[in-house]
Amino acid sequence: MTGNAEWFARAQAVIPGGVDSPVRSFRSVGGTPYTVASGSGAYVTDVEGTSYIDFVQSYGASLLGHADPRVIEAIRTAAGKGTTFGAPTPGEVLLAEAIVERVAGVEQVRLVSSGTEAVMSAVRLARGATGRSKILKFDGCYHGHSDALLVAGGSGVAQLGLPGSAGVTDGAVGDTIVAPYNVVPTLDENVAAVLVEAVAANMNLVRPTAGFLAGLRAECDRVGALLIFDEVITGFRLDQGGAESYFGVTPDLWCFGKVIGGGLPVGAFAGTREIFRHLAPLGPVYQAGTLSGNPLATAAGLAVLQNVTPAAYAELATRATRFGRQLCAAIRESGLWACVPGEGPLLGLYLAAENSSAPANFNEAKVLCDNGVYSTFFHAMLERGVALAPGAYEIMFVSFAHDDAILDRTVAIAAEAAVVTAQKHL
Ligand SMILES: *Cc1c(COP(=O)(O)O)cnc(C)c1O
Repeated sequence: MTGNAEWFARAQAVIPGGVDSPVRSFRSVGGTPYTVASGSGAYVTDVEGTSYIDFVQSYGASLLGHADPRVIEAIRTAAGKGTTFGAPTPGEVLLAEAIVERVAGVEQVRLVSSGTEAVMSAVRLARGATGRSKILKFDGCYHGHSDALLVAGGSGVAQLGLPGSAGVTDGAVGDTIVAPYNVVPTLDENVAAVLVEAVAANMNLVRPTAGFLAGLRAECDRVGALLIFDEVITGFRLDQGGAESYFGVTPDLWCFGKVIGGGLPVGAFAGTREIFRHLAPLGPVYQAGTLSGNPLATAAGLAVLQNVTPAAYAELATRATRFGRQLCAAIRESGLWACVPGEGPLLGLYLAAENSSAPANFNEAKVLCDNGVYSTFFHAMLERGVALAPGAYEIMFVSFAHDDAILDRTVAIAAEAAVVTAQKHL
């Protein structure tokens, strides 16, 4: 049998670091990654036949759980009709309509193939529409790996201790302003757009403080800058209408990804008809993609959106909130400090040896994420059959397939894992 170690050795020979996305490499937690053979619902099974309760869920791309039969059936049906054409297809119209129906301020949607592409394109559109060059992002927010947005990027960028990335020129980031999360910056009239994760979910989880998002809206309006919500994680997860309905603040542009692809590669940027007048073929801002609006991906995404209701979102949030409280209490029993901040069904997890408090920005999050406690806890959980993200800067994804019994089992396992972790760190 080819086990995890053999697969990873083979991978490292032909794929840089053995992975196609750095966080998967286990670099920040140590050890050898499990290689997934299959997934079903809340579980993944590795090539050695070991199953784990999975809280990675493709970093949020999976909302219904792995291999949901409704999604798989939609993909099978679509695949039988051909996989890509380079011409309009009904599937892309149906997915765009589903997004427009669900998100109050959205009138039009352009589909792309990843979250990175969505944000990169939204920024280009914002610059083209305003005729301005500066963009402002927040320290610790991740917006994909395009050059201009990698600075202070949280997520894998933070895990590897990189300030941004080699290979990115000063010119590429010269128009990017970085500001601390949860403080409304003062803008001037060179700013095309303010880009924000409505809930910061790439520095573990930092909730927006009361008035932060509304303050951004007001400050953008004051200087004529556009407000862009990067909802690649929060979209169709926080609730059906995303951050706009959840927080009552309407941006000018939305970026989506992850959930809307149902596990296939999709992203989207969205806004009003007025703003999309500037985008090709209607206007001078160019953006394109051979596989954009791909029939398999739109079928999978639509199957997800059609199978969740507002009531189901509320139920998921309730279940996740209860789980978060119990998880936090179970870990604290060990003497460790833990904090499980939540927003809707999104859950963070910060651990420390000393009493601390929930972070409000990247500097505070970094202290907790870099203290080494998470790595110990991560491995103690993995040995006991629970797969958390292999990095302290990521959040936990509770899918619709994580029922109360699975979550209760996770809490019991976490209590044991915390005792082991406390022995090492206290
Ligand atoms: C994952 C993520 C992205 C990038 O999406 P990819 O599909 O990985 O390119 C952008 N923004 C946020 C908030 C994300 O979490």
